[in-house]
Amino acid sequence: MHIHLSEAMSKLDAVKEYPVSLGFHVFSSKLGDYPIVSCEPIVVAITCTDDKHLMIKTKVNLTMEIPCDRCLEPVNVLFDFDVEKEVDMNLTAEERAQGLDELSYIEDYDLDVDMLIRNELFVHMPVKVLCREDCKGICKKCGANLNNGTCGCDVTELDPRMAVIRDIFKNANQ
Ligand SMILES: [Zn+2]
Ligand SMILES: [Zn+2]
Repeated sequence: MHIHLSEAMSKLDAVKEYPVSLGFHVFSSKLGDYPIVSCEPIVVAITCTDDKHLMIKTKVNLTMEIPCDRCLEPVNVLFDFDVEKEVDMNLTAEERAQGLDELSYIEDYDLDVDMLIRNELFVHMPVKVLCREDCKGICKKCGANLNNGTCGCDVTELDPRMAVIRDIFKNANQ
């Protein structure tokens, strides 16, 4: 969704509120595509602090489905944060992008709300996603989810020297 900023810039110090809906249902990143399963209504509040400066504020509260790092089962991860951006309209889109070290979400007088929120989601991405603190992950041999019980695979990785001794024992018992 886009907001044209000229209206917000016409009145000094007046807060203009824009209810917007998120324009994407899947968050795409280098790590994968994560579905957004729920999202609270978004209101973008824009204040023109002087003739060339804007304050953009909004609140994000959404739930994204991200696979567990260990067992790959989908986990509902809540993102709940405030966004506050001061924008200098004297700068060009390129200059702003450089200063903010992110893709510029304002071009001319057009605010790309989806891009703004997407940038913020990147920043708030958790380093680790686990379905539970003690997730047992998946079996390296058969891929079974070990939280549902053991799969019966022999995954004990023995020292090769130990393996020789084990074989001697095996043969002796036969
Ligand atoms: Zn897990
Ligand atoms: Zn297994």
